[in-house]
Amino acid sequence: MMFIEVAVNIPSDKTFTYAIPESLKTSVVPGKRVLIPFGKKRITGYVLGETSVTHRDDVKEIVDILDSEPLFHNEDLKFYRWLSRYYHYPLGKTLHEILPGGIHLKSNTWVSLVTETSEGMDYRPSSSQQRILDVLNRSCGILPLSILRKQLGKKDLGRDISALQKMGMIALEERMAKPGVTLKKEKIIALSHEPPEDARMTKKQRALIEFLRLHGPSPISTLRRTFTNIPSTIIALEQRRMVTVSEKEVYRGHGQRAIIKEGDRQIILNEDQDSALKEITRGLDGNTFFPCLLHGVTGSGKTEVYLSAIRECLARGGGAICLVPEIALTPQLMTRFNARFPNEEIAILHSGITKSSRYDQWRRIRSGETRVVIGARSAIFAPVKNLKLIIVDEEHDTSYKQEERMRYNARDVAIMKAQLHRATVILGSATPAIHTYYNTIKGKYSYLTLPRRTEDRPLPVVEIVDMKQEKKVEDRESPLIFSRMLREAIRDTIKKGQQVLLFLNRRGFHTFMVCQRCGYVFTCLNCAVSLTYHAGRGIIKCHYCDFSIKTPSECPSCHGDRIRSYGVGTERLEEEVRRLFPDVRVARMDSDTTSKKGAYERIIDALRRREIDVLVGTQMITKGHDFPDITLVGVISADTSLNIPDFRASERTFQLLTQVAGRGGRGKAPGRVIIQTFNPDHYALIKAKSHDYLGFYGNEINLRRGMAYPPFSRIVNLHVSSSSKSRGMEGIEKTKLIIREESYDAIREGKIEIVGPAEAPIHKLKGKYRWQLLIKGKDSRILHRLVRNILEKAHTTGLDIKADIDPLNFM
Ligand code: ADP
Ligand code: ZN
Repeated sequence: MMFIEVAVNIPSDKTFTYAIPESLKTSVVPGKRVLIPFGKKRITGYVLGETSVTHRDDVKEIVDILDSEPLFHNEDLKFYRWLSRYYHYPLGKTLHEILPGGIHLKSNTWVSLVTETSEGMDYRPSSSQQRILDVLNRSCGILPLSILRKQLGKKDLGRDISALQKMGMIALEERMAKPGVTLKKEKIIALSHEPPEDARMTKKQRALIEFLRLHGPSPISTLRRTFTNIPSTIIALEQRRMVTVSEKEVYRGHGQRAIIKEGDRQIILNEDQDSALKEITRGLDGNTFFPCLLHGVTGSGKTEVYLSAIRECLARGGGAICLVPEIALTPQLMTRFNARFPNEEIAILHSGITKSSRYDQWRRIRSGETRVVIGARSAIFAPVKNLKLIIVDEEHDTSYKQEERMRYNARDVAIMKAQLHRATVILGSATPAIHTYYNTIKGKYSYLTLPRRTEDRPLPVVEIVDMKQEKKVEDRESPLIFSRMLREAIRDTIKKGQQVLLFLNRRGFHTFMVCQRCGYVFTCLNCAVSLTYHAGRGIIKCHYCDFSIKTPSECPSCHGDRIRSYGVGTERLEEEVRRLFPDVRVARMDSDTTSKKGAYERIIDALRRREIDVLVGTQMITKGHDFPDITLVGVISADTSLNIPDFRASERTFQLLTQVAGRGGRGKAPGRVIIQTFNPDHYALIKAKSHDYLGFYGNEINLRRGMAYPPFSRIVNLHVSSSSKSRGMEGIEKTKLIIREESYDAIREGKIEIVGPAEAPIHKLKGKYRWQLLIKGKDSRILHRLVRNILEKAHTTGLDIKADIDPLNFM
């Protein structure tokens, strides 16, 4: 008897043994999904491998195989196991997170009324049981258990349900839910044999035969384009055995629209690009793990190096993954890829791609038909065959960090994956993460640099405006948005017929509603944040949980009616530009204006066609784009990112300002950048002003050393949340005690330090109270062991604890 080891999507590291019925024996292989009986249910499991022995004699058989081919290779499974261990996330959940979804099968429990209850029953249902019966009665006598729960607003119906079942008043039944994604198949028509010369056929039949003779077997959709009334013609020919009809799976590509560009101009790499490429090629040839940092200012030609590196990788029979920080950038990049590799199928994987297309692309990647993958962070999991190259563009970008479920950083994962595959990994950035640069100094990564912009375009001139000085001169009621310098600069730029970009940090900047009489601020019911005013839609809304109400006209506290909006958000900023410059064409780019499909591209196209003079926006506008006529970039405030309570605040600020500044002056005209701030003397600003990465690094690394922050230590950030404030606080104290007990010696020897707990920056979110607890230490093994124990015990204390493992602990 052969058995298999199966992982399932449950919050435990346990795997399960199943037997394979004779009929399925030949088609069970690791990497496929199977339908298995699990408790009373049937769920999807992942086949990890064979096991020959089992100590139990009640091993159940799998019900069915869900995939026709495996979804990952053996090395991929090794990698997925590492992920699961490293991020302390159960293997079954990890696989569920990673693999393309939609074809998961799961049975649901349905509850139905038993109509013929036995006579003379002397049992009366309790009031809560009666409510269950009432709801069922109202719904034709049958409902899925999950809906029943929702309707009754109760989580735990277990006791009532089983009592009613015992009484024979209701029955339970398992039904399979339909999968969301299925294979797409198409009918293929082929000529079976040459019809005799004198065969009697209609004109249409003859034409179709002629077509098949010329083009070979053809999908029915192709024939439809040429002929009318296709099905009846085919049936007639099939009956006479002249054609055969078969079914073939069709591949659903990414469906992304390419941006049409007037031909790809021939680019000859400059000296810096060339020597970077030589190093990378050496890495590819070495067949060993080769990590490198490609440090180049914005517009220095990094993307050209990536393209050449991929060409070299493909020439050596390898596959490549290229990660980008912003999914909106993939169409742009794809255009360049398509121009460079016209005969290569390129996959695009990110959350904006439909499930079915992700599923199809995934399988082509695994089989090796697709060798190049572009995508957002999750594309790093793609099972690329013979992986030789991974590129992480803008490796410092925070969007590589996933903050929910499995809390991973795709940049770190890329390093590990490259190590497992003995591949080359290029981390590209104009502003490398401090940790990344530190690793080049330590000799862990090779350092490749592109110190100049292509065609020797100058970097923009950066000016800093001290907003403290502005306040004194200007004496206005409404908040001061523009300094005189920025206002003048906008006017000048528009006069010259050039374009302006105005950047407002998404975090911390929004317009909220205040009662003028009592000072009441409208806040979210579920989160400790004020609600954001959306003048356009006449609502105030929470940006964390989406709670929203109509803009109120009366204060709930003092019943006054003088409600005013305060603060500056992108909408208000746009308004202010319109007020100051009435004839100027202004557009706004933020999560609000880009939520509709294609909206982002429309704004970018309009900017490119010069139908926009001033673009106002959030982080979204800082990445990637290349607009030659933007000559002025204004940063409304540099302070919000400086004030975030994180040891990386300065690093983030420097990166952000440098990226924003990089948007300016990419064409012939020189660029100008104006940064408004209340902290004009902060080193992050001063170094950003002089485009001095190394200077910034020098300052920052000394501070980190002094405070023993990463890269000189490792930090685990425990996020603790609970729906009850008091239970949460108790739980945290208990957790702290556990840490103290487990690492008594380590703490005494100074190997581990506990910082906190403290309330999280947003101390209530979606109805849950939140805290943070930092554990600082040098030895990653001690830290990991500690985290594992804490997380295991968290289940027993009923606390919700998530651990951020930070960063690159395995190097
Ligand atoms: P980055 O990715 O560093 O921002 P890109 O690779 O996008 O830089 O290059 C910026 C611009 O310079 C692009 O328009 C690109 O086509 C052009 N470019 C890159 N390398 C060269 C080169 N060697 N010669 C001429 N133009 C180049
Ligand atoms: Zn909220």
